[in-house]
Amino acid sequence: MAQVRQTKQRSIIEEEVRKFKTFFTAEEVHEKVRERDPRIGTATVYRYLKDVEGEDKPHYYYCDRKKIYSFKSDNHCHFYCTVCGKTSHFHIEKIDFLKNSIKGGICHFQIDVYGVCDDCQGK
Ligand SMILES: [Zn+2]
Ligand SMILES: [Zn+2]
Ligand SMILES: [Zn+2]
Repeated sequence: MAQVRQTKQRSIIEEEVRKFKTFFTAEEVHEKVRERDPRIGTATVYRYLKDVEGEDKPHYYYCDRKKIYSFKSDNHCHFYCTVCGKTSHFHIEKIDFLKNSIKGGICHFQIDVYGVCDDCQGK
């Protein structure tokens, strides 16, 4: 019986997770699945995200100390201002410049850049 229920819960999570077009957190997934089955806990969502295998496995990143996921191998870049502590996101399309420095196949990347933002520089 327990097995059947788990399978049902998994397919609800699977359906909801697929609706995200870009980055999502386990909490966001949990909010969605809870509406459909309140018995699904965050632990089940985390287990699901960890267990998905192969091509279906979501890529993961760390954003604001949170683990975030994406089904596309998006890249995720932060610019931290060391004066005001503000974080902004920016996007780089090409990572060819990294290819010579890294042995192995690149999947996705996350870059954290530190500096002083425009606002703080103007002061
Ligand atoms: Zn990846
Ligand atoms: Zn981020
Ligand atoms: Zn700043």
